[in-house]
Amino acid sequence: MGAALQLARRGFSVTVLERAAAVGGNAGSFELDGLQVDYGSHRLHPSCSPRILADIRAMLGDDLLDRPRHGRIRLRGRWLHFPLKPLDIALHAPPSFLTGVVRDGLWKPRADHQDENFATVLQQGLGPTICHDFYFPYARKIWGLDPTELDAEQARRRVSAGSIGKMVRKVLNAVPGLKPKGGGRFFYPRHGYGQISHAYHAAAMKAGARVLLETNVSAVNLDGSLVRAGNSCFSARQVLSTIPLPQLVRLMEPAAPPEILASAEALRYRAMILVYLVLETERFTEFDAHYFPGAEAPVTRLSEPKNYSLVPLPGRTVLCAELPCSRQDKVWTAGDEELGSLVTEALARFNLPVRAKVRRVAARRLPQAYPIYTRDYRRHFERLDQWAGGLDGVLTLGRQGLFAHDNTHHTLAMAYAAAECLDENAALDRGRWAEHRREFERFVVED
Ligand SMILES: Cc1cc2nc3c(=O)[nH]c(=O)nc-3n(C[C@H](O)[C@H](O)[C@H](O)COP(=O)(O)OP(=O)(O)OC[C@H]3O[C@@H](n4cnc5c(N)ncnc54)[C@H](O)[C@@H]3O)c2cc1C
Repeated sequence: MGAALQLARRGFSVTVLERAAAVGGNAGSFELDGLQVDYGSHRLHPSCSPRILADIRAMLGDDLLDRPRHGRIRLRGRWLHFPLKPLDIALHAPPSFLTGVVRDGLWKPRADHQDENFATVLQQGLGPTICHDFYFPYARKIWGLDPTELDAEQARRRVSAGSIGKMVRKVLNAVPGLKPKGGGRFFYPRHGYGQISHAYHAAAMKAGARVLLETNVSAVNLDGSLVRAGNSCFSARQVLSTIPLPQLVRLMEPAAPPEILASAEALRYRAMILVYLVLETERFTEFDAHYFPGAEAPVTRLSEPKNYSLVPLPGRTVLCAELPCSRQDKVWTAGDEELGSLVTEALARFNLPVRAKVRRVAARRLPQAYPIYTRDYRRHFERLDQWAGGLDGVLTLGRQGLFAHDNTHHTLAMAYAAAECLDENAALDRGRWAEHRREFERFVVED
């Protein structure tokens, strides 16, 4: 939608084909018993580029709320404020954990660069205590693999505090007055995160773009000149695609070479089930999100959307539990009631019993929640990327399109950049796009 808006404003004839019944993808929202809920916990981070933030502000006005972060993380059976705060750590972190972190900061084993992977990079930067208490069990849950089976890039792109020094700076940023801009705060639209995509949608239509919902792209010509969606065909000079890269490769006509299709098969995404519990109570807790890095339960995060937007909804609240999984796991096809019990049992284990009446359980499934950077992903990704980069008339971008662990503001930056890289005939300036791609490589996801 971001690219559609930019291109429509430049006077191009733009058609957006969206498979779902609403825009927004994973960054969308939907209504559940009177409350707009997101596909898992979503925030607009203050690190968003000033230009994009100004556009979002101009579209949302007073609906873009500036909110303090107020979450909790479970560590060795205790709760710590998240994002971490110095005083809270001093008062509530287990002393054995703190002495472990200090010891790790003072003494670092020599790096063995021969076998660099997610585990070795983080162990080198953060030491064993933080890794074994937090990142390693969290990684097993999020990506379903042992940390040693993940590429080092996953640590660089996914862990913003990759060294004890960076982590200390992050903790200090949460102190009011030390870093007034952004520290410990986030932006959130009053009517749910999806309000951002809806605002882009409305602005793009106003600028002349055509947006066709429930339109599944089933084939794309190798030169982008023709896109098929069911029985309809659309001709184009340039196709910008946010379809997951492996899927896009499989949709190309004529078919991509066998080695490209094999690499498309090798790139894997982690799926996620979102379990929503509608409770008959004003509030479950005061916290916006709870983080569960440990192996005790399959849930990684629990959010309470009402605490993000403070939208009035008397006598009712919704919880959203995130369960990363594989589409081959039994849980992927579990019924709503079974999923609801799984979540309430997990919460009870963390001393968060659901005492209120559960009015309704609903589940949503994200087949592509996280790209998995396995040890051989780079070889396959680079092969696909090089091949797709050679196509004249098809440009792949976005979190799914570039197989990147990115935030919404990153994917919007990609959209704006792509729109800028098209000349008046919609031909791509490859040199400029390559420069932008180098910038995208520096994006680090924020939670
Ligand atoms: C659990 C979770 C939490 C997150 N939290 C945050 C957060 O707090 N802050 C943040 O900034 N970001 C967050 N993100 C990331 C954010 O959701 C993405 O950056 C954002 O969705 C943009 O991604 P995208 O547009 O590239 O891909 P997607 O959101 O996946 O959109 C791709 C679109 O393409 C459509 N599509 C796919 N195939 C076809 C087809 N064949 N035909 C037609 N249409 C098709 C899909 O329907 C979808 O609308 C989170 C992501 C997840 C999974």
